[in-house]
Parts: sequence; structure tokens; C-alpha cells
Amino acid sequence: MSDFSATRRFFDLPRGVIYLDGNSLGPLPRHAAQRVAGMMTAEWGTQLIRGWNDAGWMDLPARVGDRIAPLIGAAPGTVTMGDTLSIKVYQALDAALSLRPKRRVILSDTGNFPSDLYMAQGLIRTLNAGHELRVVAPEAVADAIDQDTAVLLLTEVDYRTGRLHDMADLTARARAAGALTVWDLAHSAGALPVDVARAGADFAIGCTYKYLNGGPGAPGFIYVAPEHVDRIHPALSGWLGHAAPFAFDATYRPAPGIHRLRIGTPPILGLTALDAALDVWDNVAMVDVRQASGALGDLMIREVATHCPDLTLASPADRTRRGSQVSFRHPQGYAIMQALIARGVIGDFRAPDLIRFGLTPLYIGPDDIRAAVAILAEILATRAWDHPDFHRRAAVT
Ligand SMILES: *Cc1c(COP(=O)(O)O)cnc(C)c1O
Repeated sequence: MSDFSATRRFFDLPRGVIYLDGNSLGPLPRHAAQRVAGMMTAEWGTQLIRGWNDAGWMDLPARVGDRIAPLIGAAPGTVTMGDTLSIKVYQALDAALSLRPKRRVILSDTGNFPSDLYMAQGLIRTLNAGHELRVVAPEAVADAIDQDTAVLLLTEVDYRTGRLHDMADLTARARAAGALTVWDLAHSAGALPVDVARAGADFAIGCTYKYLNGGPGAPGFIYVAPEHVDRIHPALSGWLGHAAPFAFDATYRPAPGIHRLRIGTPPILGLTALDAALDVWDNVAMVDVRQASGALGDLMIREVATHCPDLTLASPADRTRRGSQVSFRHPQGYAIMQALIARGVIGDFRAPDLIRFGLTPLYIGPDDIRAAVAILAEILATRAWDHPDFHRRAAVT
């Protein structure tokens, strides 16, 4: 059994805050600051350039990738780190298209995150080979997979509603139609059990600043199924994805295996903070996280239904169909969320009308949910949200 009081102590959360936004930015692990400071002084400050060899910086993307791998059901040596999730979408999608040269359709859904769709649009322009991005409703995906589909590009958990795709089923359908899959695990990794190998996913990508708590701008990850990786010639073929970076050849030759998905110099500060954050998974089982987060979601849905009748549930009521967040609709969602944040309950807002709460038992318990909903109910009952301060839109919502 996982001990969630221990995981709660793992994080350094400010007093008086109920943090329900770990789906956007996970909180600070208590020892991360010290770990990064140690890296800066003992490694960067002391070893200088020698740190690339002596402190193992060059291998850090692979070592951290091997810590993410078990969280997503990937074998060791199949995940590497670096860049941002958007870049990893581009790399994965390009590689997948090159493995299906006769097909022209990238199939995605309206629940996908805009950046994933934008990256697909940009790649299509660059390739200039007549590809088409077909975007259907999430419930229409299964029937839209056909003989023209080159790649199914989906985010497993919808960032707005938390609706969870059936990854195993859709991957099997794609396979049966001869299509490849690129799964975005941005809202899955660290939130629920994922098994890319068992599902037969071809590519998976994700970010590490959400449920993996790696810190703002923490590097992305990419998984490639072992059956494909040695056939990929990366679109973004940087020197650190070269077979021999320090041979300084004029011509690109891919590194063996997953290492070819590296591009340039790895972000060592970010990887160090992430490496510290991943320690939390040493003592916790993802099935326990899933069980507890489902219960937190059910509790929040019940409490809101009882105490906040003006809010409409936007997430699936059935916890097996939902990721690790719950969302509600209200025309004044933005102002309501600002009023909540001013009272120390931090969630976020997604246009046009969604207030969104990320729930993770790593540092949230049932009492936090009850307290948060009591404050939410009061804000709604008193219309405390209807104040000019709360209507002013910030750049990040
Ligand atoms: C958070 C998120 C992103 C963000 O991409 P970055 O390149 O890390 O900014 C992309 N896709 C999905 C599905 C996300 O949830």
C-alpha cells in the first residue's frame, strides 16, 4: 500500500493553500531545490566542462528516461528526454508518417491540445506532400480510423474535461487498419497507470511539469516502440542524436535506438530537478494513485452537486472514463476561479467557461476537497466573484 502521508511530506506546499492545479504545474518537491543547488555548486561550479563526463550529464536524458519508462509501461532504453512536448509531438509524428509513406491522413480529435494540432499543421506544411489533418469528435475517433489513416494522434486524457480515451482499444483498432499511433501522455504520466508496451502504442510523448512535478519548463519525453526505432531517420536530426557527436562528421548518422531522438544539449538543471521529483515514485504504486484519485474526483463531484448547484459537471461522472481531474462549467468561470485563488484554492480556467481541478492523492486528501468546495460554495452564494479584480484577464489563465 502506498503511504500518501509520506508523499504529502515529500512536497513543499505553501501554508494555507489547497493546490488543485498539479495538472498544469506540479508543486515543488522538498529536496529538489537542494538537489539543484548541489548540482550547481558541486558539479557546474567545481567540475565546469568536466561535468559532462565526470558528473554524467551526457547520460542524464537516458537515465531519467529509464525512470519515466516504468511509469508508462515502457521497457528500459525506450524513453529519452529533452526539448518540449510540442517538439516531441513533431518528432514522433514525422517518424510515424515516414513509416506509412503511402498514407496521407493524420487522424486526431477535438479534445486534443491545440499545440499538438498546430505541430501537425506545421509538419504538414513542411512536408508539402499532401497530408491532411482530420479532426473528429472524441467519440467518433474509433469509427474514423480507416485505410487512409497513416497516424492516429491522440491525447489520452482531454485537458479540458478529463475524458479518458481507451488507449488499448483505439491502438488495437489503428493497428488492425494498418495505422500507427502517437499517444500524448501529458495528463496521464504520473496520474494513472499507462502501459504503452501492452497496448502496442508505436510512439508516446509527454511533459514532466504536470503530474510528474519536474518544475516549470521541465523537459519532455518520447517513447518509441523498439520495433520501429532503428528505422527512424529523425526530422530534427541534431548532433546529440548522431551516432558519434564528437566525431563532428559533416553528415548525420542516427545514434542507435532511442538516443537518435535527442536533438541538442540536454537541459541539465531541469533534468536534475525532475530526477529529484521522480523519487516520489520509488515508494508509491500507480494503481493506488489511480484508486485514490478516482475517489477524490467522486467526492468532489458529489460535494459540488450538493453545495454548488450553479455549476455543471463537464467531466465524465464515471471515474473509469476520467483522468485525474474534474471540470465544471459556469459562464463566469474565469472570475470564479480568480476569487477561489484569492481564497487560497488554486485551480485553473480554460476558455470559454471551464473551471478545472487537478486531483492527486500525492498531496491532496478528502479534507482538502471538502474545504475547497465549501469555499467555492460560499463564493458562488455570495457572488464574491463579481468584483472588478476577478474579471481582469491575466496572460496565463
Ligand atoms: C500541456 C500540454 C502540452 C504543452 O506542450 P509544451 O510543448 O510542453 O508547452 C501539449 N500537449 C498537451 C496534450 C498538453 O496537455
